[in-house]
Amino acid sequence: MSHHHAHRHAPKIEPPSHATDFDLIIVGGGLTGSALAVSLADTSLRIALVDARAPTRPQGWPTQWDNRVYAISPGSADLLAHIGCWPHLTPDRLQRVEQMMVSGDAGGVINFSAFDIGTEELAWIVESSEMACELWTSVSRQRNVTCFCPAEPRSLQVNTDQALLSLTSGQTLRGKLIVGADGRDSWVRAQMGLSSQHDPYNELGVVANFRTELPHFGTAYQWFRADGVLAYLPLAGGATQDQGKMISMVWSAPEAFANELLNLSAEDLAYRVANAGENKLGRLALMAHAVGFPLKLVRVPQVVSPRVALIGDAAHGIHPLTGHGVNLGFQDVRVLADVIRTARAVDDLGDVRLLSRYQRARREEVVVLQSMTDAMRKLFASKAPGLSPLRNLGLSLTDKLTPIKSMLIRYALER
Ligand SMILES: Cc1cc2nc3c(=O)[nH]c(=O)nc-3n(C[C@H](O)[C@H](O)[C@H](O)COP(=O)(O)OP(=O)(O)OC[C@H]3O[C@@H](n4cnc5c(N)ncnc54)[C@H](O)[C@@H]3O)c2cc1C
Repeated sequence: MSHHHAHRHAPKIEPPSHATDFDLIIVGGGLTGSALAVSLADTSLRIALVDARAPTRPQGWPTQWDNRVYAISPGSADLLAHIGCWPHLTPDRLQRVEQMMVSGDAGGVINFSAFDIGTEELAWIVESSEMACELWTSVSRQRNVTCFCPAEPRSLQVNTDQALLSLTSGQTLRGKLIVGADGRDSWVRAQMGLSSQHDPYNELGVVANFRTELPHFGTAYQWFRADGVLAYLPLAGGATQDQGKMISMVWSAPEAFANELLNLSAEDLAYRVANAGENKLGRLALMAHAVGFPLKLVRVPQVVSPRVALIGDAAHGIHPLTGHGVNLGFQDVRVLADVIRTARAVDDLGDVRLLSRYQRARREEVVVLQSMTDAMRKLFASKAPGLSPLRNLGLSLTDKLTPIKSMLIRYALER
């Protein structure tokens, strides 16, 4: 396409129907894409946000709860507070994690407590839709953002001085920088030929919410079992009699077993989950049917190219066992927003040397966490005899070595 070369030195007045000008075009308005837009609310950047659909609350909300919930690290909560989103989240849907109990399959246990390291919480348990809807509302009110939704991109072309994104609606958006925040099967990544290595775990994450007989007291539980990794995340439960007596369960299990779980009746599933969780919270009652999603490790060696940067799941996929997925994404947002903010006045936002600063700043954390999580999962998934006592010894030792433990916690807290 040569027509915009003609515009390069042309006067500022352009045919209005031709293309709309932006500084930044974000493809994907999920948690990371909309958080990036909100992070840049106080700049004069002209931002476009493109998404196929706006986020929605779970059916039956507010009585019903989203079955996708996240453990939000204090670092991510700080970011959300800094951009003004946190105070708008419904307080009685936010749950502090005050302690964590991690158990191996032969009796090894590590206990983490916020008290041990002098903080109020290890993490917050928040529903995905609660954050997504709040961020989306902020974005729609933001004066420097134009939302294209529902809209889907059709083609992307990157030139020396700009990028052109055309939508299936026929509109064309022109920008200095395109951010791919379009999830793990990122369209932007594919269009740019940025390679990604997909390593399926042949596991499903089975998620479901339960009412519990006993209160959770802000404790998150995790069990490394022969049949997968089971977690109970404490849910706030709202201002009802369920307060403190609701959990979100995530069982990352080999496909065949996961499907078996998904096919159980509500009563049988509740029984199995309570049992696997050593009946720590008494009897369980399923709130809405369980769902399963495939887990995979996605490595993306290059997350920037001229005029393009990837954030969130488009830039990395990680096993959910350490609950870092969305937190890594929020840290991408923090770093990229800083890079954009410092560069804005003098530089071309799409300059790959500038974008490389973002890539360098993020690489280490992403790679370390991906490898650590992967190694841990493989260790616990291994059926080799003799490994089980070893890994449990590892767990118990770590529990006693407080400095190592607090280092681990601090790392998890991103502080
Ligand atoms: C079931 C499930 C459970 C999870 N549990 C956890 C957890 O417990 N803890 C945790 O930290 N992480 C968890 N994750 C991961 C977490 O959901 C992601 O890390 C996080 O949502 C990434 O946000 P994102 O903004 O990068 O991408 P997404 O949330 O995937 O958002 C991508 C957005 O882009 C839009 N989009 C994509 N392609 C196009 C296109 N071609 N055109 C227009 N729009 C497009 C989509 O509509 C969407 O709004 C879970 C993931 C799943 C699937």
